[in-house]
Amino acid sequence: MSEFAFELELCARLEERDGGIVARQLGGSVANPGGRILDVLCVEPGPEFDDRAALTSETIPDAAIESAVGTGRARYWKDAFDCHPERARSATERAVEIGFFERDYEASAASNREYVRQVARYPDWYDRIVGIENKPDLGRPGDLERQLRTDVGLALVDEAILATESYVTRAHLHRIPDEVGVWRIHRGGTAAGDGLEIEVIREPTPLASDEPGIEPLAAHPGRTEIEVVSPDAKARARRRLAERAYGKGWRTYGFPNCTACRPDDASGATLPYCEWTGRVVDANSECGPDCPGHEPRSAAEIAVDLEAERDRRTAWEAEPDGKRRRQSGLDRFR
Ligand code: SF4
Repeated sequence: MSEFAFELELCARLEERDGGIVARQLGGSVANPGGRILDVLCVEPGPEFDDRAALTSETIPDAAIESAVGTGRARYWKDAFDCHPERARSATERAVEIGFFERDYEASAASNREYVRQVARYPDWYDRIVGIENKPDLGRPGDLERQLRTDVGLALVDEAILATESYVTRAHLHRIPDEVGVWRIHRGGTAAGDGLEIEVIREPTPLASDEPGIEPLAAHPGRTEIEVVSPDAKARARRRLAERAYGKGWRTYGFPNCTACRPDDASGATLPYCEWTGRVVDANSECGPDCPGHEPRSAAEIAVDLEAERDRRTAWEAEPDGKRRRQSGLDRFR
């Protein structure tokens, strides 16, 4: 199976099995942003998850959360940020757009400067974060060992897991860090995600996500450059990760404009299943007139609303009531 199909089917299964927030392809490093991309992320809800869901369906910009805007008296936006003015400006605009900040039109008109306040305190909404590395075929491990060593050394997530379809040998287990859990994925039926079972080969060991982490930066013959990442920097990076996971989720794929694609929801989520290849396909990289099975059809013929599906099947809310109330309230001042 392709890594793409494996990833989507696993996300569908995890969402159905565990609830919480499932997302994919998110940055999992701190000192070298983009140096490590996590395939799948599961964010377990914390005590104030409902408050987060009521705020906005989108990712709240980190600079807005960190700012001193606060919920009380409105503040001139420029005075509330301790970062580059451009970053502050764009965080303010985005926070207003998604309903995390609201403009105080009276104070703004009186001073001819833009005054904003936070609509609610930022909640304590997430608990454990689990990172899953997908490697359907362990015969083609690529950079697997280095990736998992980074996850364990940095300990940005609370648990790191390797998911594979391969038979896992003792030699495989020896090559990956002891702390990494190992799942073998079994597929039952023929449809996408049909009967996908998770066999736990090895339980993960909890990682010290609240202690300093070691992030490898570059490997040279005989030595590796590293950076020590402080607990504070990790806590901020975890919040960014959780926020991105909340806003993005995992349904970030398209459906090919091809008659062979039969959107399949056997797994509890609608996936781009192709009857010609007999599996889930990546419309961006696999489909198009160059494919021998391609038979064009218009995009309008594929009526799939992935956002509505996420709203229906998970605790994430596409249109939180609080946001709607706030927006209609604000309209009075425009
Ligand atoms: S373009 Fe090819 S791979 Fe894509 S859905 Fe059509 S037949 Fe399947």
